[in-house]
Amino acid sequence: MSSPDPATLTKEELVTRLQQLEREHAAFETELLSTVRELRSMKAALDEHSIVAITDPRGRITYVNDKFCAISRYAREELLGQDHRIINSRFHPREFFHELWSTISSGRVWHGEIKNRAKDGSLYWVDTTIFPFLDGTGRPVQYVAIRTDITQRKADELTLQQTAADLAEKNKELEAIVYTVSHDLRSPLVNVQGFSRQLTRACESIRATLATATDGQVPAEPLRKPVDVAIPQALRFINAGVTKMEALLAGLLQYSRLGRVALHLRPLDLNAMLGEIVAAMKFQLNEAKAEVRVEPLPRCIGDSVQTSQVFTNLLDNALKYRSPLRPLRVTVTGRVERGQVIYSFADNGLGISPQHQAKIFEIFHRLNPNDSPGEGLGLAIAQRVLERQRGRIWVESTGEGGSTFHVSLPAE
Ligand code: ADP
Repeated sequence: MSSPDPATLTKEELVTRLQQLEREHAAFETELLSTVRELRSMKAALDEHSIVAITDPRGRITYVNDKFCAISRYAREELLGQDHRIINSRFHPREFFHELWSTISSGRVWHGEIKNRAKDGSLYWVDTTIFPFLDGTGRPVQYVAIRTDITQRKADELTLQQTAADLAEKNKELEAIVYTVSHDLRSPLVNVQGFSRQLTRACESIRATLATATDGQVPAEPLRKPVDVAIPQALRFINAGVTKMEALLAGLLQYSRLGRVALHLRPLDLNAMLGEIVAAMKFQLNEAKAEVRVEPLPRCIGDSVQTSQVFTNLLDNALKYRSPLRPLRVTVTGRVERGQVIYSFADNGLGISPQHQAKIFEIFHRLNPNDSPGEGLGLAIAQRVLERQRGRIWVESTGEGGSTFHVSLPAE
């Protein structure tokens, strides 16, 4: 229903109409004020909870709240008039921001996670919603970005992923160990079984001979073979098998205990440590006419007992696997690389061909089991011990002319 034309109204009617308009205006003003108050409260609540920024249609920042300044470590004046490239961490590819812009400039809401760089270089993650404010024709007039700090959640996710990957790796290792141990235990076990049967047969033959006894007289000749040959031989092999199994189990126990030994990490003087190791092996080194040269070594952080065990094993191996063609020469050098000290332990011994190099770090793996004593445990232990100290061990060798074992540990 349209209002009557004011020109046709009487003076009284006009006054009434005016009073009515004044009342409507006052009511409208009250409503407007309450809406503004409500909006202010909402903005205050938003500012309290979120990191908020507003940009113009070209992406220039026109408003940032205190939380934005706090997390980005920029002052408000440094941000206003800039675009968001000021906090770009270069983590996301170009296409990422391309997709973001094409979404919001076409009037749609964008939601995603962004990694940003603060003024001091620190990185932070924000869960972001960008809401375009549109004009009457549907064109964006400004963008409101509301963000939540998810840096901690991202770090936790990464730790979780890392832990899952480590666990999978450990599981694989464990499977490999179970396989190797069961395989290595099998051959002495088969020997023990085989020679136990030989023992049974020898007993049966003795019993049969005893059964033929007349007047308490037992013929000596048929007893000779089982008593002098079969039984001693069977006992010898059974004993050897049991000793082998015992050694394997003791090795396994030693290996499994490593994970539980408490570490005492402290700065280590490797020159002093190698001096002691060489002195302790002086006799064997002299007998082999071996020469050990230790260059000045950088200090590292490690557990002195376990690290000493690693280098003792390396020197022991250099002696065991030396070449009969030349006197043993060992050179120990060290350098610092990206926070890690890399100690290089080079010998001129038998060398290790490339296809065997990864295998020698597996538990019980030996290249020539019958040529020298050992359980194939030293390098597996060294690897485990170093891993626990944030270190590593690997080998370089062309297969002849010697091997170089590299040990890395955190620098002091
Ligand atoms: P073990 O010495 O008891 O066999 P290790 O784990 O210390 O156990 O070594 C595993 C295998 O790696 C050895 O059996 C040997 O074949 C090879 N190896 C280790 N060190 C050297 C070396 N310096 N030169 C040549 N071969 C080596």
